[in-house]
Amino acid sequence: MQSAAQDQSVIAYFSMEVGLHPAMPTYSGGLGVLAGDTLRAAADFGLPMVAVTMLHRKGYFRQHLDSQGRQWDEPAVWSPEDLMTPLLNPLPQRVSVFIEGRRVFIRAWQHAMEGISGKKLVVYYLDTALPENSPWDQTLTDYLYGGDSHYRLCQEAVLGLGGIAVLRALGYHNVHTYHMNEGHSALLTLALLEERANGRPLDTLTPEDLDAVRQRCVFTTHTPLATAHDQFPRGMAAHVIGHERLQALAVTDCCPPDTLDMTYLPMFLSRYVNGVAMRHGETSRAMYPNYPVNSITNGVHATTWTSRPFQELYDRLIPGWRLDNQYLRYAVSIPLEEILQAHTRAKALLLAEVERRSGVRLDPKAMTIGFARRATSYKRHDMLFGSRERLKRIVEQVGPIQVVYGGKAHPLDEGGKAMIRRVFDAAAALKDTMKVVYLEEYDMALAGFLTSGADLWLNTPQKPQEASGTSGMKAALNGVPSFSILDGWWLEGHVEGVTGWAIGDDSGGGSHPEEEIASLYDKLEYVILPTFYGRPTAYAQVMRSAVALNASFFNTHRMLRQYMVNAYHLNGV
Ligand SMILES: *Cc1c(COP(=O)(O)O)cnc(C)c1O
Repeated sequence: MQSAAQDQSVIAYFSMEVGLHPAMPTYSGGLGVLAGDTLRAAADFGLPMVAVTMLHRKGYFRQHLDSQGRQWDEPAVWSPEDLMTPLLNPLPQRVSVFIEGRRVFIRAWQHAMEGISGKKLVVYYLDTALPENSPWDQTLTDYLYGGDSHYRLCQEAVLGLGGIAVLRALGYHNVHTYHMNEGHSALLTLALLEERANGRPLDTLTPEDLDAVRQRCVFTTHTPLATAHDQFPRGMAAHVIGHERLQALAVTDCCPPDTLDMTYLPMFLSRYVNGVAMRHGETSRAMYPNYPVNSITNGVHATTWTSRPFQELYDRLIPGWRLDNQYLRYAVSIPLEEILQAHTRAKALLLAEVERRSGVRLDPKAMTIGFARRATSYKRHDMLFGSRERLKRIVEQVGPIQVVYGGKAHPLDEGGKAMIRRVFDAAAALKDTMKVVYLEEYDMALAGFLTSGADLWLNTPQKPQEASGTSGMKAALNGVPSFSILDGWWLEGHVEGVTGWAIGDDSGGGSHPEEEIASLYDKLEYVILPTFYGRPTAYAQVMRSAVALNASFFNTHRMLRQYMVNAYHLNGV
C-alpha cells in the first residue's frame, strides 16, 4: 500500500500460515484457517489491522492416496504471478535482513480483503524469490512446514525480522499491537528490541526497554503439545540470527538454557497471552506456571462456513446474521421442517461432491458421519473402528452408517500416515457392512462440503491435546451436531442431547481409549442412531439447538470482540 493510510494506528497480525483463498494454498490446517477467519472478521468490522504472512510458493503439499491408503505427496506449486491483479500484487519496495550473516532481500505481495461492510484489510505475503538472493535464500518462502529445523528458523527470521522491516518500509510506524498467532513470528520481538536500542549494543537493554516492547505485543498459543512448540539449539540460533541478537535474548533470560524457544520468548515479551479455549488456557498455565495465560475460545467465520442452503434460510428468517453473528441465537424459532429441508439440500451437495471425487455413490437416507482433520496421531481417525464386530452388529441391528473421511498427514509423520492406512484397512474389512470413503486433498473447499453435509460430526482427539478444534463449529453453523470427546471447545459447546453428544466424560487426566470406544458405540447404538432413524423431529431439534446455542457463540465475530476488549484494549466496540 503506497497510500498515507498508514498514519492510522493499527494492529499488525502475524501468522506463518493464513487460509484466505482457494487459489493460495498457504495454510496447512486449523491454525491457518483460524488466521483467515480472524482476518475476515476484522475486515467485517473495519478494524484497523494489517496482516503479515509468507507466500509459500510451494504450498503445504498435495496429497495422493493409493487404494491401500498409502500417502504420497508432491509440492502444491502455485504461481502468484498468475494471480496478479486484483487478487495479489507485488509491491516495489525491497527490504533486507541479515540471516547467517548474509543479506536476504524480501519483498511483499499485497492482497486486499473486503469485509461485509466494504471495508478493506490488507494482507502482506513475504517473498524471498528474488534474483538478488542466493538460490537457497530464494527457497525460504517456498514450503510451509517443510525442510529441517534450520530451514524453519531461517523462515522464522524472514517472518519475524523481515515482517517488521516490510511494515516499516510500507510506512507502518504507528502499530499499537503486534499479535503473534503462534510462536513462529516471535522473532518480531527482537526486531522491536533492536528498534528500541536504536543503535546501542543489545546487551545494554534495560528492563524498561523490555517492558516497552512487552506493552505492544500479544501472543496466542495454539497447542498444548510441547513437541509442536519450536525450539532451536543455541548454536544454531547464534549462527542464523547472529551472536548480537542472541545476547539480547540472554538479557531477557526468557528461554530454557541453551535454547531459543518460540513459546517462552513471546510469553515473556507479551502484555497479553492466551490459549484458544478455556481448558487450553488451564493446560497452558500448568505448562507455563510463571505466565498468566488467559483464554479466548476460537470461532469460525460464519458466512464463510455456512452452506448455501443455510445461508438462504438465515437470510430469510434471521436477517442481520451476516453483519452480526449473534443473531443466530434466534435460530431457536426456525421451524424444524425448514432446518431439515436446508440440511437435505446441503447433504445432497456433499454426496454429489463425494461421487464426483471418488465415484462412490452414497445413500442420501443413511446416517452420514463426517470426520476430517489433519491426520496426526492424537486426532485418532481410526477410533470409530475400535471394535469392528460391535460396529457391524450396530449397523445390522439399528440402521446403516456411512462415513466420509478427509485429512492429510504431514510428509514426515509416519504415525499419521499409518493411521490413514488403518482407516483403509477397516474400510476394506467392513465393505459388506458400511461404506467408508476417504477423500484426498482435504482443504477448505472440502471442509465446507463435509462440515455442512454430514448428519453427525465425529471428533475423537486424545485429551488434552485438542487445544480448541474448529471444524465442529463449522458443523454447528450448518445444524450438524457434534459427537466428540470432551476436549477443546466441545467442553464449552456440549450440552448432552441438546447440541450433540459426548464421547466419554470429563473425568480428569488424559484419555482412556477403552472406555471412550465403549462410550462411542453405546451412544451410537442406544441414542444417536435410534433418534436419527426413529425420531427425526427430535434429531432436528438437536440440529437447531446446535445453531442457536453454538453457532451464535463459536464464531469469529464474538472471538474478535473478545480480543478487542481483552487483548487489543479497544474498548467501546
Ligand atoms: C477447519 C479446518 C481445520 C481445523 O479443523 P479441526 O477440527 O480444528 O481439526 C483443518 N483443516 C481445514 C482444511 C479446515 O477447514
